[in-house]
Amino acid sequence: MPELPEVEIVKRSLFNKVKNQKISKVGVFNRSLRYRIEDRFEDFLKNQKILNITRKSKFIILHFLNDNYCIIHLGMTGTLHLLDNKNPNKNTNLSFYHSKILPKKHNHVEFNFSKFSLVYNDPRRFGFFKLIKSKYELDSFFKPFYPEALDSGFNLNYLKKKLKNKSKNIKNFLLDQNFVSGIGNIYASEILYYCKLNPLKKGKNLNIKNMKRIVKYTHFVLIKAIKRGGSTIKDFKNAKGSIGNFQKEFKVYERKNLKCLRKNCDGIIKKININNRSTFYCNNCQK
Ligand SMILES: [Zn+2]
Repeated sequence: MPELPEVEIVKRSLFNKVKNQKISKVGVFNRSLRYRIEDRFEDFLKNQKILNITRKSKFIILHFLNDNYCIIHLGMTGTLHLLDNKNPNKNTNLSFYHSKILPKKHNHVEFNFSKFSLVYNDPRRFGFFKLIKSKYELDSFFKPFYPEALDSGFNLNYLKKKLKNKSKNIKNFLLDQNFVSGIGNIYASEILYYCKLNPLKKGKNLNIKNMKRIVKYTHFVLIKAIKRGGSTIKDFKNAKGSIGNFQKEFKVYERKNLKCLRKNCDGIIKKININNRSTFYCNNCQK
């Protein structure tokens, strides 16, 4: 599932490529995504100029005139591809975590611009497109997703209030979109490694120092991943980049039974299931 850093990178790619471009035509080849693509979709977007592209949590927002918007969510397996009309076999994938070239199957939505096309591919179809017609509607949509991990509202006071007397463990808190939006399963394990916190530690047992670290390292881990993602994109353009490089950056994720990477720690990385999600942590330095 795309995590916040990946979505941020897709957003930046879109910002560089399609900002101020006018959509000349829209094609929908399969309306059955997570939510059905509404019938007015093509007419609503045709001839609209994309004035801005922003991100909120794991949603990408296309901005149009008169407070019209289109929200895009990549679901589990969604990717956006930009096809140059003259050179359609070039690397097309804006998210670079998957195949570089647009697959033949599972292309559901296509936006045409004067010089290129933007294609949405999604084998499992958990992604969606949602049209929004006012600022009020946009704000209402995002209300449940506040605060996101990088918002200033995700701070010590907020954690104190939310974690007080709670017996839910911190790993589940980080994945709970009502607590904080935008942290996925991979980065939840990574953040807790940096915090030196055991993922099973209960909310009520976290002290001020622990909470400060959670805020600090949530920012640190996500920002680092965004930066790393940005440079991976550049590698890709030089044709030699490999997806594996990104994976090597993880401290605990998918490192079961390997030695802890922290200096002076003799611990081993363990894998456990919490709420059916793989969770990785060091059995020595995460307490
Ligand atoms: Zn360790």
